[in-house]
Amino acid sequence: MKGKEYKQVNGWLEMEDVEREEIFSFNKDYAEFLDDYRTEREFVKGAIGLLEAEGFKNLEEFTELKKGDKFYKVNRDKAILAAIVGEKPLEEGLRIVGSHIDSPRIDLKPTPLYEDSELAYFSTHYYGGIKKYQWVSIPLALHGVVIKEDGTKVEINIGDKEGDPVFYISDLLPHLGKDQMAKKMSEGITGEQLRLIIGSIPARKKDGEEKDSGKKVKSAVLDYLFEEYGISEEDLISCELQIVPALKSRDVGFDRGLLAAYGHDDRVCSYPALRAILDVENPVYTAMVLLVDKEEIGSMGNTGMQSHFFENTVAEMVNLTYENYSDLLVRKTIENSKCLSGDVNAAYDPNFPEVYAKDNTPYLGKGVVITKYTGARGKGGSSEATAEFVAEIRGLFNNAGVIWQTGELGKVDQGGGGTIAQFLANYNMDVLDCGPAVLSMHAPYELVSKVDVYNTYLAYQVFLEK
Ligand code: MN
Ligand code: MN
Repeated sequence: MKGKEYKQVNGWLEMEDVEREEIFSFNKDYAEFLDDYRTEREFVKGAIGLLEAEGFKNLEEFTELKKGDKFYKVNRDKAILAAIVGEKPLEEGLRIVGSHIDSPRIDLKPTPLYEDSELAYFSTHYYGGIKKYQWVSIPLALHGVVIKEDGTKVEINIGDKEGDPVFYISDLLPHLGKDQMAKKMSEGITGEQLRLIIGSIPARKKDGEEKDSGKKVKSAVLDYLFEEYGISEEDLISCELQIVPALKSRDVGFDRGLLAAYGHDDRVCSYPALRAILDVENPVYTAMVLLVDKEEIGSMGNTGMQSHFFENTVAEMVNLTYENYSDLLVRKTIENSKCLSGDVNAAYDPNFPEVYAKDNTPYLGKGVVITKYTGARGKGGSSEATAEFVAEIRGLFNNAGVIWQTGELGKVDQGGGGTIAQFLANYNMDVLDCGPAVLSMHAPYELVSKVDVYNTYLAYQVFLEK
């Protein structure tokens, strides 16, 4: 045989009509999930629903673990793992798909509520790497929880349901925008300017009140928050309210081949991972899907990938599996594991050809992307996968008919990024980044190809099963 050229292929061309239908139906489910579960807490809730419907039970309910057992474990309502016990002994390692369920967004400041010029505002602090100018003059929703002093949890979810009001951050009209338009794009809208308009109708003077406080709109908002949710201004100090775009997922293009939505990064990996473990049957190794928080700010904290949640759970699994628990068994289980780190790559954008190396970049529609290394400035910060593991995975995908491609994030020295891969690799397990490519990553409304979403699911399923 003559030397064979490697070529990325367009996934749609590889698909029969039946498979096209499967792609559209999978993406319809995905789009609905995206619209229903918009934050990490909501994702966890949605995941528990799907897992329990397929017979997964909380790990707390088990007194021992044996082949075929299906369980999940939740960390602080913001991270979740699900697993199916495989045929091989646990200490031979897990097959893990790990990804994150937090997305770039805007959070509130510790004391957010104030009034300015008879408008009520929440002051904010953005979360993750956003281009601030993209978040103004679009409809915004508020999702999250307020925890009262006595521990009562109040859930707030406004802006996405039919008939709900939305919230808004203003931008300057072009007529007065001369100075603003001359600024660098990174300075056209500042972090402090991302203040959310939440009210405009002043409170009427209350009975017996001599004179008003001068903050009548703020006072009306406080009255509303108390009447509707029973919360006070101080309660907002212990809240996790997140401002997300109030935009529903929509098909894009005459042919509906693309899907636009808020927060594809990284629910476009987390949802296929979840669906994959729901559909896995009799895995050879113990299959695990690990969905974590805080990736967008460095995987820090007790709900991020750097927390001990994962290894503590493995210790628990070892304890429920073996007669005699040992630390060595825990370490062996972890070290013998293999992992696909599910995260997105940057799809080639013909609008900005200058930042991509055309022959080493992923494209929309050409399948799930395996990314051997991430990082910036000479692979800095990357946990680069070994050539051996990359070979194993492409063999696996080729045999299973998964459509995949490879590439790196942009041109050398153009920028870069990281994923949770490095934190899993620190355990001395094999890890490879693997997920679809996205257009307009971290924008309020991101774009993916449906054929890539579906192949991401296929890739994770075959990896978890074999
Ligand atoms: Mn990501
Ligand atoms: Mn990201």
